[in-house]
Amino acid sequence: MKQIKTITVSLILLLIMSSIVWGYQWPFDPFDKQHVITGTLGEPRPVEPAVPERFHKGVDIVDRGLIGEGAEVYPVADGTIRKIETDYIIIYHGGIPAKIEYIHIVVDSKRRKNEEVTKGVTPLGKVDGKRHLHFEEEDGIRNPLRTPIGLIGLEPFIDRADPMVSGFDFWIDRTTTELPDELYGRVDIRADAFDPRTDKDGYAAGARNSIYRIGADFLQNGVAVGDSIEHIRFISVPADINFPRIYDKEIDNDTHSDTGYYYWVTNNPFAPYSAPNPEDTSNIWWNTKQRIDCGIADDARINSEAKYNDGQYTIRVTGFDINARSNFYEKVRVIDNFRPLVQKVTITKDSETKYDRGWTFDGTYLNSTGSSINELLGSGTYTITILFNEPVTGAALSIDTFDSITLTSSEPANNQKTFTVTLNIPSGSSFHDGKRTMTISAFDLAGNQILQLTSSDTQINPAIPDF
Ligand SMILES: [Zn+2]
Repeated sequence: MKQIKTITVSLILLLIMSSIVWGYQWPFDPFDKQHVITGTLGEPRPVEPAVPERFHKGVDIVDRGLIGEGAEVYPVADGTIRKIETDYIIIYHGGIPAKIEYIHIVVDSKRRKNEEVTKGVTPLGKVDGKRHLHFEEEDGIRNPLRTPIGLIGLEPFIDRADPMVSGFDFWIDRTTTELPDELYGRVDIRADAFDPRTDKDGYAAGARNSIYRIGADFLQNGVAVGDSIEHIRFISVPADINFPRIYDKEIDNDTHSDTGYYYWVTNNPFAPYSAPNPEDTSNIWWNTKQRIDCGIADDARINSEAKYNDGQYTIRVTGFDINARSNFYEKVRVIDNFRPLVQKVTITKDSETKYDRGWTFDGTYLNSTGSSINELLGSGTYTITILFNEPVTGAALSIDTFDSITLTSSEPANNQKTFTVTLNIPSGSSFHDGKRTMTISAFDLAGNQILQLTSSDTQINPAIPDF
């Protein structure tokens, strides 16, 4: 019994392994060599005026001899003709299995509906004046170029050039308002990308081929933070109604420049479309204010609740081609959803704490927290340490009877949260005696001023020399 089970398992394994190398041949002679891909799945096709924008549901192929118009087209596998028109043939290939459409051909006059055809033998017709074969599998439900999960497709296929991500920008979700500097709230990312699809013979389609996959990652100090976004994957094409979810309508995608297409990386075109309203699941965003452990529509109320705490981030947009080659572009931006606040102030002398107080903000009130030490300060040398809840610039401190005091931080620029300063209280004078008020000012990286503290009094009595 045991032995039979083992044999069954290895047979299944063998089948799975074989299917990885099974593809189907090319529709042009030579059938075992790669031909030229000039258009790919998912590209925008707003070709004719008054025709609605739509996704390209197949691949465009030119024979490798570059004959174009007049090149003979053959079936990629054995099959049966299901439909025949003057300029296209639809064949069901049971061995793949797939329904494949051969479009933009002058159909061979000998072909008939329900006729059995043989791969590489039965001529289907010659490429017409469009000078390329439009080759479509299952109405765009499958990409005919082999994919890691699609397994079966045109073979051989090799892509020897990296895709290109030329840049990206940020927009307030569902608006035409660009965010050139600080990011806050719900943000759309629009990226500029293409895949030249250069094959081993050097044929390249330039910027007119769509990217295969594109997404975004968020990093701080080289470490990924929050959730990666990757909704756009042309393993199949989305429904045409979701066209504006991928391609920027503001740009004429038919006359686009050599830089490629503009993709709304943050939208999910494979999610069900609904009218533009807050429940639309395909027109989504990167929520820079997202509350930790909550859905993307849930906003944090305070900085410490946020998945992306206020501060500096590297945003990386990466494109992939079918051979898993990749290329990325990065931008450094500050996320700023909340005003900064002083989280803690301590005053120490010879490592003994003389003053210690912390604050939190609940979205409405600043509250004092933790142990609160407030002892009399005598003459001597003290270290004041101030911790902000997010990186700040322009941090300054004054104590009413002292000259202005310069704060320093040993942390790198744009990451400075902790500042220290030495305070000398002279002996033999009563000038500083009494309750003194400390004033702290600072700005977060987006230029927002810190929240006002109500009071942080401490008592100074230089007449007391030591504690
Ligand atoms: Zn086409």
